[in-house]
Amino acid sequence: MKIPVMSLLLLAGCALAAEPAPAADHATAHAQHAQGPSPVDTLVRLSAGNARFAYGKRTRSAKPDADPARRAEIAGGQHPVAAVMTCADSRVPPELLFDQGLGDLFVVRNAGNVAEPIGLGSLEYGVEHLGIRLVVVLGHSSCGAVKAVSGAAATLPGHLADIQERMPGLRALAQERARAGDAPDKVIAAAVERNAEDQARALLAGSPVLKTAVAGGVLVVPAVYDLESGLVTFLPAIDAAAKPAAEGANPAPAAHGPAPTQAPAKPPVPAKAPAPAHGH
Ligand SMILES: [Zn+2]
Repeated sequence: MKIPVMSLLLLAGCALAAEPAPAADHATAHAQHAQGPSPVDTLVRLSAGNARFAYGKRTRSAKPDADPARRAEIAGGQHPVAAVMTCADSRVPPELLFDQGLGDLFVVRNAGNVAEPIGLGSLEYGVEHLGIRLVVVLGHSSCGAVKAVSGAAATLPGHLADIQERMPGLRALAQERARAGDAPDKVIAAAVERNAEDQARALLAGSPVLKTAVAGGVLVVPAVYDLESGLVTFLPAIDAAAKPAAEGANPAPAAHGPAPTQAPAKPPVPAKAPAPAHGH
Protein backbone atom coordinates (compact mmCIF):
# COMPACT_ATOMS: atom_id res chain seq x y z
CA MET A 1 0.00 0.00 0.00
CA LYS A 2 1.30 3.38 -0.93
CA ILE A 3 0.59 6.41 1.12
CA PRO A 4 -0.27 9.55 -0.83
CA VAL A 5 0.79 12.77 0.77
CA MET A 6 -2.64 14.03 1.73
CA SER A 7 -3.73 10.70 3.22
CA LEU A 8 -0.57 10.64 5.26
CA LEU A 9 -1.25 14.11 6.52
CA LEU A 10 -4.77 13.21 7.57
CA LEU A 11 -3.67 9.94 9.09
CA ALA A 12 -0.86 11.61 10.88
CA GLY A 13 -3.21 14.19 12.32
CA CYS A 14 -4.84 11.32 14.22
CA ALA A 15 -1.50 9.72 15.01
CA LEU A 16 -0.19 12.96 16.40
CA ALA A 17 -3.15 13.36 18.67
CA ALA A 18 -2.94 9.78 19.90
CA GLU A 19 0.77 9.19 19.95
CA PRO A 20 2.26 8.22 23.31
CA ALA A 21 5.68 9.28 24.48
CA PRO A 22 8.05 8.34 21.64
CA ALA A 23 10.46 6.49 23.92
CA ALA A 24 7.79 4.01 25.01
CA ASP A 25 8.40 1.73 22.04
CA HIS A 26 12.02 0.98 22.75
CA ALA A 27 12.64 -2.70 22.32
CA THR A 28 16.26 -2.58 23.38
CA ALA A 29 18.47 -0.82 25.83
CA HIS A 30 20.37 0.60 22.86
CA ALA A 31 21.63 4.00 23.95
CA GLN A 32 20.58 6.89 21.79
CA HIS A 33 22.07 10.28 22.25
CA ALA A 34 19.92 13.37 22.04
CA GLN A 35 16.97 11.53 20.56
CA GLY A 36 15.19 13.52 17.88
CA PRO A 37 11.46 13.87 17.15
CA SER A 38 9.31 10.79 16.56
CA PRO A 39 9.48 9.28 13.08
CA VAL A 40 5.75 9.81 12.53
CA ASP A 41 6.02 13.49 13.41
CA THR A 42 8.92 13.78 11.00
CA LEU A 43 7.07 11.98 8.19
CA VAL A 44 4.24 14.47 8.60
CA ARG A 45 6.70 17.33 8.51
CA LEU A 46 8.35 16.04 5.32
CA SER A 47 4.99 15.34 3.68
CA ALA A 48 3.80 18.85 4.42
CA GLY A 49 7.06 20.27 3.10
CA ASN A 50 6.76 18.19 -0.06
CA ALA A 51 3.22 19.44 -0.63
CA ARG A 52 4.44 23.04 -0.29
CA PHE A 53 7.21 22.29 -2.80
CA ALA A 54 4.93 20.54 -5.30
CA TYR A 55 2.44 23.41 -5.27
CA GLY A 56 5.04 26.14 -5.48
CA LYS A 57 4.62 27.29 -1.88
CA ARG A 58 8.04 26.67 -0.36
CA THR A 59 8.73 28.48 2.89
CA ARG A 60 11.26 26.72 5.08
CA SER A 61 13.85 26.14 2.35
CA ALA A 62 13.60 29.79 1.38
CA LYS A 63 13.38 32.31 4.21
CA PRO A 64 14.21 32.43 7.06
CA ASP A 65 15.59 28.91 7.38
CA ALA A 66 18.33 29.35 4.83
CA ASP A 67 19.28 32.84 6.00
CA PRO A 68 22.48 33.96 7.74
CA ALA A 69 20.66 34.02 11.08
CA ARG A 70 19.74 30.36 10.74
CA ARG A 71 23.27 29.59 9.61
CA ALA A 72 24.65 31.23 12.75
CA GLU A 73 22.10 29.47 14.93
CA ILE A 74 23.23 26.01 13.86
CA ALA A 75 26.95 26.63 13.38
CA GLY A 76 27.67 25.19 16.81
CA GLY A 77 25.87 21.91 16.29
CA GLN A 78 23.41 20.06 14.11
CA HIS A 79 20.10 18.46 15.04
CA PRO A 80 18.67 17.16 11.77
CA VAL A 81 15.20 15.64 12.01
CA ALA A 82 15.63 13.01 9.31
CA ALA A 83 18.19 11.28 7.14
CA VAL A 84 17.56 11.04 3.41
CA MET A 85 19.51 8.67 1.20
CA THR A 86 18.75 9.65 -2.35
CA CYS A 87 20.09 9.82 -5.89
CA ALA A 88 22.82 12.21 -7.01
CA ASP A 89 20.47 13.38 -9.79
CA SER A 90 20.50 17.17 -9.99
CA ARG A 91 16.70 17.26 -10.04
CA VAL A 92 16.31 15.60 -6.65
CA PRO A 93 17.65 17.97 -3.96
CA PRO A 94 16.04 16.75 -0.72
CA GLU A 95 16.08 20.08 1.11
CA LEU A 96 14.08 21.69 -1.69
CA LEU A 97 11.63 18.92 -2.44
CA PHE A 98 10.83 18.45 1.27
CA ASP A 99 11.02 22.21 1.82
CA GLN A 100 13.46 22.02 4.71
CA GLY A 101 16.05 24.51 5.85
CA LEU A 102 19.70 24.50 6.81
CA GLY A 103 20.44 21.85 9.41
CA ASP A 104 17.15 19.98 8.94
CA LEU A 105 18.20 16.97 6.86
CA PHE A 106 21.18 14.63 7.05
CA VAL A 107 21.72 13.66 3.42
CA VAL A 108 23.55 10.78 1.74
CA ARG A 109 23.57 10.82 -2.06
CA ASN A 110 24.92 8.68 -4.86
CA ALA A 111 23.71 7.65 -8.29
CA GLY A 112 20.84 5.22 -7.78
CA ASN A 113 20.54 5.80 -4.00
CA VAL A 114 22.43 2.60 -3.34
CA ALA A 115 23.30 1.28 0.11
CA GLU A 116 27.09 1.03 0.26
CA PRO A 117 29.59 1.04 3.13
CA ILE A 118 30.31 4.78 3.35
CA GLY A 119 26.62 5.60 3.20
CA LEU A 120 25.92 2.99 5.85
CA GLY A 121 28.54 4.51 8.11
CA SER A 122 27.08 7.95 7.53
CA LEU A 123 23.59 6.79 8.44
CA GLU A 124 24.87 4.93 11.49
CA TYR A 125 26.41 8.21 12.62
CA GLY A 126 23.16 10.05 12.00
CA VAL A 127 21.09 7.58 13.96
CA GLU A 128 23.55 6.85 16.76
CA HIS A 129 25.01 10.28 17.37
CA LEU A 130 22.51 12.76 15.98
CA GLY A 131 19.39 11.05 17.30
CA ILE A 132 17.73 10.71 13.89
CA ARG A 133 14.68 8.43 14.02
CA LEU A 134 13.53 8.54 10.39
CA VAL A 135 15.58 7.39 7.40
CA VAL A 136 14.00 7.94 3.98
CA VAL A 137 15.42 6.04 1.00
CA LEU A 138 14.28 8.17 -1.90
CA GLY A 139 14.32 6.97 -5.48
CA HIS A 140 12.90 9.03 -8.31
CA SER A 141 11.13 8.63 -11.64
CA SER A 142 13.30 8.26 -14.75
CA CYS A 143 16.41 7.47 -12.68
CA GLY A 144 19.38 7.13 -15.04
CA ALA A 145 21.18 4.65 -12.79
CA VAL A 146 18.13 2.43 -12.55
CA LYS A 147 17.61 2.65 -16.32
CA ALA A 148 21.24 1.74 -16.98
CA VAL A 149 21.22 -1.26 -14.67
CA SER A 150 17.78 -2.45 -15.73
CA GLY A 151 18.80 -2.40 -19.37
CA ALA A 152 22.35 -3.74 -19.07
CA ALA A 153 22.98 -7.22 -20.44
CA ALA A 154 26.66 -7.06 -19.41
CA THR A 155 28.80 -5.56 -16.67
CA LEU A 156 28.76 -1.76 -16.83
CA PRO A 157 32.11 0.01 -17.38
CA GLY A 158 34.32 1.48 -14.66
CA HIS A 159 32.87 2.05 -11.24
CA LEU A 160 29.36 1.96 -12.64
CA ALA A 161 29.82 -1.76 -12.05
CA ASP A 162 29.91 -1.03 -8.30
CA ILE A 163 26.47 0.53 -8.58
CA GLN A 164 25.23 -2.30 -10.78
CA GLU A 165 26.31 -5.02 -8.37
CA ARG A 166 24.28 -3.34 -5.63
CA MET A 167 21.12 -3.50 -7.73
CA PRO A 168 20.69 -7.24 -8.23
CA GLY A 169 17.32 -8.23 -9.53
CA LEU A 170 16.47 -5.07 -11.46
CA ARG A 171 17.47 -6.55 -14.79
CA ALA A 172 15.29 -9.61 -14.21
CA LEU A 173 12.40 -7.44 -13.03
CA ALA A 174 12.63 -5.23 -16.12
CA GLN A 175 12.75 -8.22 -18.43
CA GLU A 176 9.76 -9.79 -16.76
CA ARG A 177 7.75 -6.57 -16.93
CA ALA A 178 8.65 -6.09 -20.60
CA ARG A 179 7.61 -9.67 -21.39
CA ALA A 180 4.31 -9.01 -19.64
CA GLY A 181 3.72 -6.15 -22.06
CA ASP A 182 4.43 -3.15 -19.85
CA ALA A 183 5.42 0.04 -21.64
CA PRO A 184 9.05 1.11 -21.12
CA ASP A 185 8.12 3.93 -18.74
CA LYS A 186 6.10 1.50 -16.61
CA VAL A 187 9.02 -0.91 -16.57
CA ILE A 188 11.36 1.79 -15.26
CA ALA A 189 8.79 2.99 -12.73
CA ALA A 190 8.54 -0.53 -11.33
CA ALA A 191 12.33 -0.82 -11.20
CA VAL A 192 12.68 2.54 -9.42
CA GLU A 193 10.21 1.50 -6.77
CA ARG A 194 11.79 -1.90 -6.35
CA ASN A 195 15.21 -0.31 -6.04
CA ALA A 196 14.09 2.08 -3.29
CA GLU A 197 12.70 -0.89 -1.35
CA ASP A 198 15.73 -3.07 -2.03
CA GLN A 199 18.16 -0.37 -0.90
CA ALA A 200 16.15 0.29 2.24
CA ARG A 201 16.29 -3.43 3.08
CA ALA A 202 19.99 -3.45 2.27
CA LEU A 203 20.56 -0.77 4.92
CA LEU A 204 19.24 -3.09 7.58
CA ALA A 205 20.90 -6.17 6.14
CA GLY A 206 24.26 -4.38 6.01
CA SER A 207 24.19 -2.61 9.35
CA PRO A 208 23.48 -4.24 12.71
CA VAL A 209 23.42 -0.73 14.14
CA LEU A 210 20.56 0.32 11.88
CA LYS A 211 18.77 -2.97 12.37
CA THR A 212 18.89 -2.53 16.14
CA ALA A 213 17.74 1.06 15.75
CA VAL A 214 14.72 -0.06 13.70
CA ALA A 215 13.87 -2.66 16.33
CA GLY A 216 13.93 0.26 18.77
CA GLY A 217 11.45 2.39 16.83
CA VAL A 218 13.49 4.10 14.10
CA LEU A 219 11.67 4.01 10.75
CA VAL A 220 13.39 3.24 7.45
CA VAL A 221 10.95 4.28 4.73
CA PRO A 222 11.43 3.81 1.00
CA ALA A 223 9.86 6.48 -1.17
CA VAL A 224 9.68 7.61 -4.78
CA TYR A 225 9.83 11.19 -6.01
CA ASP A 226 7.98 12.02 -9.22
CA LEU A 227 9.98 14.46 -11.31
CA GLU A 228 6.90 15.80 -13.08
CA SER A 229 4.39 16.23 -10.26
CA GLY A 230 6.96 17.11 -7.60
CA LEU A 231 5.26 14.72 -5.19
CA VAL A 232 6.88 12.05 -3.05
CA THR A 233 5.04 8.76 -2.51
CA PHE A 234 6.01 7.00 0.70
CA LEU A 235 6.07 3.19 0.65
CA PRO A 236 5.63 0.91 3.66
CA ALA A 237 8.44 1.09 6.21
CA ILE A 238 10.95 -1.74 6.23
CA ASP A 239 10.49 -4.31 8.95
CA ALA A 240 13.47 -5.06 11.18
CA ALA A 241 13.10 -8.74 10.29
CA ALA A 242 13.14 -8.05 6.53
CA LYS A 243 15.51 -10.12 4.46
CA PRO A 244 17.56 -8.49 1.73
CA ALA A 245 15.64 -8.68 -1.53
CA ALA A 246 18.37 -10.47 -3.40
CA GLU A 247 21.16 -12.59 -2.13
CA GLY A 248 22.76 -14.44 -4.99
CA ALA A 249 19.70 -15.21 -7.05
CA ASN A 250 17.29 -12.62 -8.39
CA PRO A 251 14.29 -12.06 -6.18
CA ALA A 252 10.97 -13.46 -7.30
CA PRO A 253 8.91 -10.42 -8.30
CA ALA A 254 5.61 -12.21 -7.60
CA ALA A 255 6.59 -12.62 -3.93
CA HIS A 256 7.31 -8.97 -3.48
CA GLY A 257 3.95 -7.80 -2.23
CA PRO A 258 1.34 -5.80 -4.09
CA ALA A 259 2.19 -4.99 -7.67
CA PRO A 260 3.35 -1.38 -7.93
CA THR A 261 0.69 -0.34 -10.37
CA GLN A 262 -0.56 2.84 -8.74
CA ALA A 263 0.94 6.00 -10.09
CA PRO A 264 1.74 8.71 -7.57
CA ALA A 265 -1.06 11.17 -7.22
CA LYS A 266 -0.67 14.13 -9.53
CA PRO A 267 -1.25 17.57 -8.09
CA PRO A 268 -3.62 19.93 -9.80
CA VAL A 269 -1.91 22.43 -12.02
CA PRO A 270 -0.64 25.17 -9.70
CA ALA A 271 -2.18 28.57 -10.26
CA LYS A 272 1.29 29.97 -10.58
CA ALA A 273 4.38 28.11 -11.71
CA PRO A 274 7.04 27.68 -9.02
CA ALA A 275 9.71 30.34 -9.14
CA PRO A 276 12.46 29.00 -11.43
CA ALA A 277 15.36 30.63 -9.60
CA HIS A 278 16.16 30.23 -5.93
CA GLY A 279 19.19 32.45 -5.77
CA HIS A 280 21.58 29.64 -4.88
ZN1 LIG B 1 18.70 8.78 -10.23
